[in-house]
Amino acid sequence: MPQENLPWYRRLHWQILIAMALGTVVGLVGGTEVVPKVDWLGTLFIKLLKMIIVPLILTSIVSGVASVGGGRDLGRLFGKTLGYYVLSSALAIFAGLFAVNLIRPGVGANIVGAESKTIPELATPSSPKELLLDIVPENVVAAAAESHMLAVIFFSILLGMAIAGLPDRPRETLQQFFGAAFQAMMRLTGGVIRFAPIGVFGLITTLVGSSGLESFRALGLYMITIALSLSFHLFVTLPLLLLVLGRIRPSIHFRNMVEPLAMAFSTSSSGATLPVTMNAVENKVGVSNRISSFVLPMGATVNMDGTALYECAGVLFIAQVMGVDLSIGAQLVVVFTALLASIGAAAVPSAGLVIIFIVLEAVNLRGPEVGVIVGAMLAIDRPLDMYRTAVNIFSDSCGAAIIAVSEGESDIDTAVVP
Ligand code: ASP
Repeated sequence: MPQENLPWYRRLHWQILIAMALGTVVGLVGGTEVVPKVDWLGTLFIKLLKMIIVPLILTSIVSGVASVGGGRDLGRLFGKTLGYYVLSSALAIFAGLFAVNLIRPGVGANIVGAESKTIPELATPSSPKELLLDIVPENVVAAAAESHMLAVIFFSILLGMAIAGLPDRPRETLQQFFGAAFQAMMRLTGGVIRFAPIGVFGLITTLVGSSGLESFRALGLYMITIALSLSFHLFVTLPLLLLVLGRIRPSIHFRNMVEPLAMAFSTSSSGATLPVTMNAVENKVGVSNRISSFVLPMGATVNMDGTALYECAGVLFIAQVMGVDLSIGAQLVVVFTALLASIGAAAVPSAGLVIIFIVLEAVNLRGPEVGVIVGAMLAIDRPLDMYRTAVNIFSDSCGAAIIAVSEGESDIDTAVVP
């Protein structure tokens, strides 16, 4: 039955929101004991999502790029996409910069009393040069096997361009093949998403049950500062971009994006959320595959507004805790490296915090004290990670909608699709 004929409690986005609420209650009441009983539900769901990512990205990009063709059309789309990424991330960074300078959460923060965690090893590039070298795969099958998203994206774009340049017969055959394979992947994605409420329940129960709410007190003001600036970007800046650049009503866009937002919140991973984002942007927001296949997979790894904001705000916070006064020049270095770091951050949980060391290095903040502060930040990172991941994927969807409008697509966010 189509979703619009269903009573509200059988609609997917309500079921996901109810699962989040239920997971919070069960986690709080059941505590650590309940975790082993439900954690597998979340793990299973994330595995299902990850299972579809590589074939989904490959078929989506190849069929999208093959239909755009190479040359000027592709160049224009690429330019608009990069332009949007830089604009939205820069606006996010300035929101963080402003909030930390205004509220000054690091002055007098009680880091010594806070719980601390050891920083995990995440494979993240350490310089722009390394990032660039990382994009080109040596072996495309190995890149796919390791879910190395940027490398898969790079190869898929080239393959799409190659197909677009073929003579009519083979070109049409391959366009049809990848187009049909993409439709099959989207159908599969739709099937997996039906299990979202159960998966989200498992994820949230595990999260709340294993961490409780205690450890969040020590760094309260810092958390509030980050949450406020993320909220400003999510509820003021991005809606303004939608309105001004795309003439799109933000309220409709928000409602069409409820499922991916809830999913980003529950998984803390833009990568794992990508199938759900693509499903909503194409089937609800109404963006063509030609645009969404270009803006969304690349956006999931490259365009991270929430993470960029966090890099900047986090480094300024650390400087405040250490009593270091960063000059305007140094703060500008932070802004610039925060942008680069967010591009390099992997689309997985906690990547944003691990990569903060790049930005710290750029302004010479290093040493054991920095390690202790980042450890304390890590102990309370999960809720912030959930929120910045939601901001990350929402910015991608806004970009896709705005670029679609600029490319002459009509019917973008004209109605709320249940
Ligand atoms: N978890 C975020 C994401 O996947 C990255 C981050 O840690 O900021 O988008």
